[in-house]
Amino acid sequence: MFLIVGDGELDEGQCWEAFAFAAARKLGNLVVLIDWNKKQLDGRVDEVLPLGNIAAKMEAFGFDTVQVDGGDVEAVAGALERTRQGGDKPYAIVLDTVKGHGIAEAENTEMNHSMPINDERYARWMGELQADLAALEG
Ligand SMILES: [Mg+2]
Repeated sequence: MFLIVGDGELDEGQCWEAFAFAAARKLGNLVVLIDWNKKQLDGRVDEVLPLGNIAAKMEAFGFDTVQVDGGDVEAVAGALERTRQGGDKPYAIVLDTVKGHGIAEAENTEMNHSMPINDERYARWMGELQADLAALEG
């Protein structure tokens, strides 16, 4: 079972309650992917509610934890592959990401949690993403 959460969501206490429950019940089939992009709706995570070392926290909660570059597909695939070994500990994969990665305007805008998209912006952004994909495939 896979669960994807954002770092901003981890401000909410029920996340930690669920993590403690998962470890206590030895849910070795649970994989929690944490998008650690350092931003949330209200601003930077470190300014809203600093989380410190998320990977260390997940370890302390009883998770088998790794942290990888969330923009590195092979690293993410390797971390996911690792969870196939089973066991009685739930897994956490902390994905170190950059919000808006791959779209220059979004990546370089400080408050980029939500940005309105019009037709012009959509076409430009899709062009950037398609160019990146072509470069990866080429
Ligand atoms: Mg976030």
